[in-house]
Amino acid sequence: MQKLGKNLGSYFGETIDIRAVLRDVEAAAQQHGWHLEIFCEAGEFKNFALHRSPLVTRHSSRIYISTGIHGDEPAGPLAALRLLQENNWPPGAEIFFLPCLNPVGFTLNKRENAEGIDLNRDYRNPQAAETRAHIAWLERQPNFDLHLCLHEDWESHGFYLYEQNPDSKPSLAEKMIAAVKEVCPIDLSENIEGRAAKNGIVRPNISPQERPDWPEAFYLITQKSRQGYTLEAPSDFPLATRVNALIAGVNSALAR
Ligand SMILES: [Zn+2]
Repeated sequence: MQKLGKNLGSYFGETIDIRAVLRDVEAAAQQHGWHLEIFCEAGEFKNFALHRSPLVTRHSSRIYISTGIHGDEPAGPLAALRLLQENNWPPGAEIFFLPCLNPVGFTLNKRENAEGIDLNRDYRNPQAAETRAHIAWLERQPNFDLHLCLHEDWESHGFYLYEQNPDSKPSLAEKMIAAVKEVCPIDLSENIEGRAAKNGIVRPNISPQERPDWPEAFYLITQKSRQGYTLEAPSDFPLATRVNALIAGVNSALAR
């Protein structure tokens, strides 16, 4: 599979009708019995969180999944929609699902929100209303066993992921990469976004305390969870391939 060669300087691929996608997300969530909570109003949109209780309480685990924080990364909300429609969750999984953290961004096909704030750099000293409301919602939730943040990278040569695993728990990274490899090329660069990488896995060795502009994942790893993955689908490949990549990564992480 070849890169499309469309992304010269930023994302120039397909866009989505986020209003239609979110309508379908709500319909799928309602059909499958998710609880929906609106936590923020942003422009014409109501940002919402979905919650699903575990079907069995033995060996249950709390999983947090979010996407759509960058409005020029359409694969995330589409993957969220399909995961909800497929409804193929492990019976013990309690899931907290944020299917689109920046809907306004998608109407602009921009990474940032309407005020030009990159929400995924706003989690240390939050300025944006969306981030503040999201953090307030997070503070009301229990801790998670695992968090998954779904993204795209317009420059990458294939799929890759970041692992946060400060307690050295059994890693899910290799099996996620193996699952994604079936549906999407993996970025095998030894350096991705300025960090050492191996077989599509970046294990950043940074202390959140040293960085002023926290992404969502830094907030999660310091406040809510002790293991997490940021999945990066390659935006210069067909949209369907990127969606399949994110879904394969999520399903692999959940199949424990
Ligand atoms: Zn992103």
